[in-house]
Amino acid sequence: MTLKKVLVCGAGGFIGGHLVKKLKKEGAWVRGVDIKEHEFSASEADEFIVGDLTDQEVVREVLDQKFDEIYQLAADMGGAGYIFTGENDANVMHNSATINLNVLHQACKQGVGKIFYSSSACIYPAYNQADPDNPKCAEDSAYPAEPDSDYGWEKLFSERLYLAFGRNHGLSVRIARFHNIFGPEGTWTGGKEKAPAAICRKVAEAPDGTAIEVWGDGKQTRSFLYIDECLEGVARLMASDFTGPVNIGSEEMVTLNQLASIVISLSGKNIGIQNILVPHTGVRGRNSDNKLIQSKLGWAPSQPLAKGLTKTYEWIRQQVYCSVPQ
Ligand code: NAD
Repeated sequence: MTLKKVLVCGAGGFIGGHLVKKLKKEGAWVRGVDIKEHEFSASEADEFIVGDLTDQEVVREVLDQKFDEIYQLAADMGGAGYIFTGENDANVMHNSATINLNVLHQACKQGVGKIFYSSSACIYPAYNQADPDNPKCAEDSAYPAEPDSDYGWEKLFSERLYLAFGRNHGLSVRIARFHNIFGPEGTWTGGKEKAPAAICRKVAEAPDGTAIEVWGDGKQTRSFLYIDECLEGVARLMASDFTGPVNIGSEEMVTLNQLASIVISLSGKNIGIQNILVPHTGVRGRNSDNKLIQSKLGWAPSQPLAKGLTKTYEWIRQQVYCSVPQ
């Protein structure tokens, strides 16, 4: 029996690392590529290539054959502290767009069974996300476009790029818009971490009787999806004949202060919340709208937020403990 051959771009990252593990469990032959090794565990890929996908030569080497599946997850990205300050916009747009241009061009040359692209909830227009209690993130609300970050604009451009390659060159494309994916083995410190990881770290580090800082007034809303359900959604999309773009996210919307309260209660500590004003916290409200995924794939994420947070907090608590000189 020939094994399914899969290429994972961004295999050294959070979602890519988990995806490689899942694909290996399912019996695929996997080649991973990333500009860096995975930070938290040795890659289980059959081959792992450290290379820069903005370099066409590297992409030619990595994509030297027809793969059954390609997952393009590599991107220059981070949480609000990286995406919204404006300081990284040129790198984010240039690096991520170049990766997508290179990978698509080479995939087209070699041929590919199916190619998956990870877009983001950040493509949705800012004007639909001003009310924290009623954000609109249905897939067909993406236009007229007005993403609130250049990260979002690049994602929207690249969605169109993948769709165009599908239309003009016959590539079988699948596109998902991820909404705040979280879980163990993701960035939890250093400036690129996202809200769930940052809050778990702050709670793990805080002594009893103190308070953790939460950015903004804490009333901004979001939803967060645990990594296992994200990968389940990706697998179902890949197995379907639906191109997307489709939201892969949770509909359990919480305020940032509610998110912090859940983590604090999981920790069993007596910790308060101090909201601090920072210039960039993103849109006021965002939530996944799962009508389309439900109707096209007959499935939508359903796991309660607290369940995934329990596993994530425990993993980050251990990282914090191990990083403190004993
Ligand atoms: P991540 O930062 O952990 O993974 C991205 C990986 O891409 C990193 O390992 C990074 O080293 C790699 N990369 C960056 N530039 C590269 C280059 N030039 N060559 C090779 N590799 C390069 O992020 P993640 O959370 O795993 O996200 C994976 C994908 O999903 C990204 O495209 C991201 O934009 C998208 N996404 C993620 C979320 C989320 O909440 N995590 C939400 C929406 C969209």
